[in-house]
Amino acid sequence: MPSLDNYIAFRCQNADCAALVKMKPPQPGKDFIIVCPKCKTRQKWQYEGIDSQCKPVVVPKGIVRSEPKAEPKVEPDRPTPIGFMRLSPIPGRLVRVRSGFFHRNELINLVPGENTVGQRDAAKPSTVQIDDKFMSRRSVKIDVYAEPRGYRFKFTLIKSLNPAYFNGKDIREGFSKELVFGDSFRIGTTDFIFEGIDGSRKPIR
Ligand SMILES: [Zn+2]
Repeated sequence: MPSLDNYIAFRCQNADCAALVKMKPPQPGKDFIIVCPKCKTRQKWQYEGIDSQCKPVVVPKGIVRSEPKAEPKVEPDRPTPIGFMRLSPIPGRLVRVRSGFFHRNELINLVPGENTVGQRDAAKPSTVQIDDKFMSRRSVKIDVYAEPRGYRFKFTLIKSLNPAYFNGKDIREGFSKELVFGDSFRIGTTDFIFEGIDGSRKPIR
């Protein structure tokens, strides 16, 4: 009689893969979901237990679509109320950091209102378009609030399929933060620094 701490084995439900998957038997009578180690397809199975021949019975229950991704909520996790954001006497700009002999850093002025940064795309253009195929089409939003005495800036990560970083820390879609001179972020494979139009990279106090 096979012991229960044996393994169960079954073929991946993706017909193009059909890899043999082995695992410890889960709780009998319950559905379980595995991700095929070969093709990464999520699939549902039911382990029914041991049949009269002492063979484990595993019933395929179909391929599971990865959970529908809810539209990323563009909500700051810890929002700074606009009135508390620092007021800069001068406008800000982005520096697209480019290294190498033939490249110079590219300076990108930001306009009052909404600025979006994303991969170049005619159908869904961002106000700042970058040739970076690892960047989403509308990846970052920078709000510039122009007031009589100066400017306030806010950064929001709208969408990024690849890891994104703000001041070296990884951030998630929906991340939103006051933007001050000297802040940096990376989306796709592109690095940006935010600075004053005079090149200052010290936050206004
Ligand atoms: Zn597979």
